[in-house]
Amino acid sequence: MARLPVKTNSQTEMIDVTALVQDQVTESGISDGLCMVFVPHTTVAVTINESADPAVKHDILMVINKIVPWKEAYRHMEGNSPAHLKTSLIGSSEIIAVEKGRLVLGTWQGIFLCEFDGPRTRKLDVRLIRA
Ligand code: ZN
Repeated sequence: MARLPVKTNSQTEMIDVTALVQDQVTESGISDGLCMVFVPHTTVAVTINESADPAVKHDILMVINKIVPWKEAYRHMEGNSPAHLKTSLIGSSEIIAVEKGRLVLGTWQGIFLCEFDGPRTRKLDVRLIRA
């Protein structure tokens, strides 16, 4: 398993980590198997979506910010309940097949770390299973 640091730059942000994950697959020498990407945080998520047009990231974040408002009758003392909610809506992990040493992603797909309470340095865990 590799635990990689990912520096985020704003409170809410999607960072394309596809190349970082592919580097781990390449370094491992695995030909065929599964790659699990996980974030050990309660205010960061992982998702797969379009990486070609940056407007897609913008639109996803715009709508998720409307679905989960910053001001609400939240009880969580830390004041970052919206970040926790967004993380649960999107999820903390993804599993991607590996074939011939490459992540099996669609032409337009990329893997994104979704920061909801940044900026901070986050951890991205990459685990590989030969199959
Ligand atoms: Zn909190």
